[in-house]
Amino acid sequence: MSYLFDLPPVPSIPVLGEKATYPIRRIFCVGRNYAAHAAEMGIAVDREKPFYFTKSAASAILGGARAPYPSGTDNYHFEMELALAIGAPAHQVSVADALSAVYGYCCALDMTRRDLQLSERAKQRPWDLGKDVENSAVFAPITKAASFGQIAGQRIHLEVNGQTRQDATLAELVWSVPEIISHLSGFYHLQPGDLIMTGTPAGVGAVLPGDVITGGIDGLEPISLTIGHAE
Ligand code: MN
Repeated sequence: MSYLFDLPPVPSIPVLGEKATYPIRRIFCVGRNYAAHAAEMGIAVDREKPFYFTKSAASAILGGARAPYPSGTDNYHFEMELALAIGAPAHQVSVADALSAVYGYCCALDMTRRDLQLSERAKQRPWDLGKDVENSAVFAPITKAASFGQIAGQRIHLEVNGQTRQDATLAELVWSVPEIISHLSGFYHLQPGDLIMTGTPAGVGAVLPGDVITGGIDGLEPISLTIGHAE
């Protein structure tokens, strides 16, 4: 079989200590997973079950990049997040067994057309134009799970032009990593290459062309993104 045309290579993420990179298959994102961020978005956390949206693998770029300010928005927001990379198949796994599916963790940015996310939300429409934005899924290099250790009170933070905008700890996650994997695996056959962004803490805000975003999570490689000219 031959293809009519060539697609770009599968996007992938460097892994600390490995020559090979982690190829991206799917990107799942958890919504409102820090109570203080849910409050700033005007909606309480749903403690019955988590909810998700997705970003295309084609929207992924690596930390350190310069990405244009996207078309179609006047309110482009940063969201600093812990991302986990699935390393083994997981379908209908228990919370107790869920961590065995994790390959590693990395810092991530869930860049968002906030104006479109909110206007579509108000109309009870999907969030795709707000969330599945080109160049909006930003990943730093992956640290293997065994090297990262237990998720506990690690600090998660983000700065814009050196000024702190988000500053929280992973202890504030409403749904834990095992709970998220267990719940999501009830709906998907999770596979190696699937990434899950676990939600953002409070303090989200807008960036403008020329702004430099930096962020970090204790024990992981830091992330950065420079916002280029408007498209
Ligand atoms: Mn997010």
